[in-house]
Amino acid sequence: MMDHSIPYGHQYITDDDIQAVVETLKSDYMTQGPRIDEFEKNFSKYIGCSYSCMVSNGTAALHLCAMALDIRPGDKVITTPITFVASANGFRYLGAEMVFCDIDPRTYLLDLDKLEDILRKSPYGTYKAVVPVDFAGYPIDEEKLRKLADKYGFAIVVDACHAPGASFTDTKGIRRKVGACNYADMACFSFHPVKHIATGEGGAVTTNNPKLYERVSLFRTHGITKNPNLLTKSDGGWYYEMQELGYNYRITDIQAALGISQLKRLDWSISRRNQIAEKYDKAFKDTSIHTPYREDGITHAFHLYIIQTGQRKELYNFLRENNIFSQVLYIPAHTMPYYRQFGWKEGDFPVAEDYYRHCLALPMFPTLTDEEQDWVIEKVLEFSRR
Ligand SMILES: *Cc1c(COP(=O)(O)O)cnc(C)c1O
Repeated sequence: MMDHSIPYGHQYITDDDIQAVVETLKSDYMTQGPRIDEFEKNFSKYIGCSYSCMVSNGTAALHLCAMALDIRPGDKVITTPITFVASANGFRYLGAEMVFCDIDPRTYLLDLDKLEDILRKSPYGTYKAVVPVDFAGYPIDEEKLRKLADKYGFAIVVDACHAPGASFTDTKGIRRKVGACNYADMACFSFHPVKHIATGEGGAVTTNNPKLYERVSLFRTHGITKNPNLLTKSDGGWYYEMQELGYNYRITDIQAALGISQLKRLDWSISRRNQIAEKYDKAFKDTSIHTPYREDGITHAFHLYIIQTGQRKELYNFLRENNIFSQVLYIPAHTMPYYRQFGWKEGDFPVAEDYYRHCLALPMFPTLTDEEQDWVIEKVLEFSRR
C-alpha cells in the first residue's frame, strides 16, 4: 500500500517560485506593478500572440471576452457540454442564450460537423460566438472552425484553460500554439492550482486584435483608462476617465511573480505529462480500457489523462480504497439544474452523455513519481483482471 494518497492533479512549487514571491513582497508593489507587465510580455512571447491580458482568474477571462465582444441579453453563443461550467457562465453573465452542441467521440471536443448542422439552420450572424474548449489539453481544429466562423459570422473564443503549451499543425504545415490566435479571435487561460501554471487564482486573455485587447484591458479595471489616445479631453496628470461599466478583475504582482517563474517550466511540464501519458497508454494497451486519442501533428497538453471504462463507478471506488483519487470530469453542463431551466435535458447529447458515463481522469501531474504511477497502473490492471 502507498503510504500517502495520490490526487488526480497537483501543483508544483519550487524554491525559485517561492523566492520570486518573497522578492515581490519586499518590493514596492503588491499589485499593479512591473511583474504583471513582465508576465504578460513573457506569456505573449511563449504563446506567440500580440497581446496577453493577465486577470484574476479564468472565469473572469471568459467574462471579459464576452464583454469585449459586446454580448447582449438573448445573443446566442455555442459551447460544448463537456467542460467546466465557467465556459458557459462567462457569457451567461451578460444574458447570452447558451446553446450546447454534442462532442466528437474520439477527441471529446466540440464536434465541428454537428456544429455546422446547427449553424446551417439559421441566417448568417445568428450566433454571436462559439466557445470551443481544448478539453483535457487537446487542441480544437481552429483552422476548420475559422472557415465556419467566416461562413456563418461568429467570433471564436477558445477556452484554453486546459491547454497552455498545446499546439497543432495547420494545412500550411505550420505549428501553431494554442492561444496564438492565428485563427481564433481570443483565447482564455486559467492559473488555478490544478492547471499547468499555478498562481493561486489567475487567468489570461490572449489575442492579436488591438481593439479587443483594449476592451478587455478596460473592463479588467472598472472601465477606467488613462490612455491619452482614448480620453475625451485632457486636464492634468491625475486625469482619468471611466468610460464603461467594468470590474476589478486584476491579478496581483505576487501572483504574476509566481506565473513568470512557472512559465519557465511549462515546456518541461508538457513533455513530462506526455511521458506519463505514454506509459499509461502502453500499460493499458491489451485491456478493455480506452486510452486518449491523439492525431499526428498535435501536441496534447495533458491537463487530464482520461480513460473510458465500462465499470467506471466500481473502478473509481476501488482506486479510492487504494488511496488513489481519480476524478470524473465533467458532468455535462446541459444537465446541470441551472441550465435545465432553459429546456436542456438528459438525452439531448448522446455522445457527451455516453462519455460522461464511462470517463475517469487518472493521476496526471508533472511531479507524479514513477513509483506512484506504477502503483496506479498496478491497481487499475488488478481491477480490470477481476
Ligand atoms: C478551470 C477552468 C475554467 C475557470 O478557471 P478559473 O481560473 O478556475 O476561474 C474555465 N474553463 C475551464 C475549461 C477550466 O478548466
